[in-house]
This record gives sequence, C-alpha cells and structure tokens, in this order.
Amino acid sequence: MKDITKKYTNGEITIVWKPAMCIHSTICWKHATGLPKVFNPMIKPWINPEAATTEEIITQISKCPSGALSFYKGDAK
Ligand code: SF4
Repeated sequence: MKDITKKYTNGEITIVWKPAMCIHSTICWKHATGLPKVFNPMIKPWINPEAATTEEIITQISKCPSGALSFYKGDAK
C-alpha cells in the first residue's frame, strides 16, 4: 500500500490521493468540514471529481492535514 497513488480527474484538475499518507482525519468527507459530494468513503470510487467545481475541490484539498490529498491542473497521467 505504501507507494500507491490514485488519481481522479474531471479534465480540468486531477486529484491525487496517497492512501499511505492518509491519517483518516475525516476532514475531507464529514459534512461539517468536508465536501462529501466529492469525497465519500462509503462508495467506490470514493472520490468523484465531477461532483463539484474545480475551485471547491482545490479549497477542500488545501484542508487535508496529512498531505494525502494533492492536485495538479489538467488531466495528464
Ligand atoms: S482530509 Fe486528508 S487525511 Fe483526512 S481523511 Fe481526507 S485524505 Fe485522509
């Protein structure tokens, strides 16, 4: 699991998730702090980059305390 990197793109932005770095803070998916329409661990895939605007996604990613979530512009692999 250590080096796994998952990518989810809407064409405009690519969300990068590194599960080994995730400390399960729940910040990204709990209603009070998160963006559950994009980050929802109850469904697969757990990240849906089409469900919010790119700006909303960037704002949410900046709140991830562990660095497990990051992003880059565009959809290059
Ligand atoms: S905010 Fe970051 S550390 Fe917290 S659950 Fe989401 S990905 Fe994991």
